[in-house]
Amino acid sequence: MSPELKVGPDHHYHLEFRKVKEPAVEFEPGQMTIILPKGDNPDEVVRVHSEWISHIHANVQAALRAASTRKMSGRTQPEFRNLVWKLAEECAKELGVEFYKIHFKKTADKWASCGTDGNLNFNTLMRNLPEHLIQYVVYHEIAHRKEMNHGKVFQRIMKDKFPQKRQIDMELYVYWMIVNRVS
Ligand SMILES: [Zn+2]
Repeated sequence: MSPELKVGPDHHYHLEFRKVKEPAVEFEPGQMTIILPKGDNPDEVVRVHSEWISHIHANVQAALRAASTRKMSGRTQPEFRNLVWKLAEECAKELGVEFYKIHFKKTADKWASCGTDGNLNFNTLMRNLPEHLIQYVVYHEIAHRKEMNHGKVFQRIMKDKFPQKRQIDMELYVYWMIVNRVS
């Protein structure tokens, strides 16, 4: 159980204290977690990092505003599927791996997944994402053909390709809110 961190009048983020030197933020579909270094007094740790927290909050709000005012792609489901196949083949070639089937399904909890059997699953809600975010999600799943877990090796593969990874994770986080509201 992680406590909640209240930011501004009506925003709550999950809060975790971990053995880290620097504060960090993690994005998952529908959830953002602020990670702060462990300390004797949690309130004091929050206070020390309050400026950093406000900065992250402001970035998320700006990303949400930018995404909200952007027109949805209008891509059809077949166009979306073709795009995912094309990107998956490109990424697989780049990473020197293979995959088998691609399945498309509307799911409530994630953008995509990769099975140990080499099959990839993509959420049909991704149809509305800008292409650079679709490419990022596809690359992530294909990278799992090299490394199943999200450990250091996996993070390195992703950061080499997407140095601005945190910004993209943030965009995906705000788009999750947007596409789940509109569909
Ligand atoms: Zn993954």
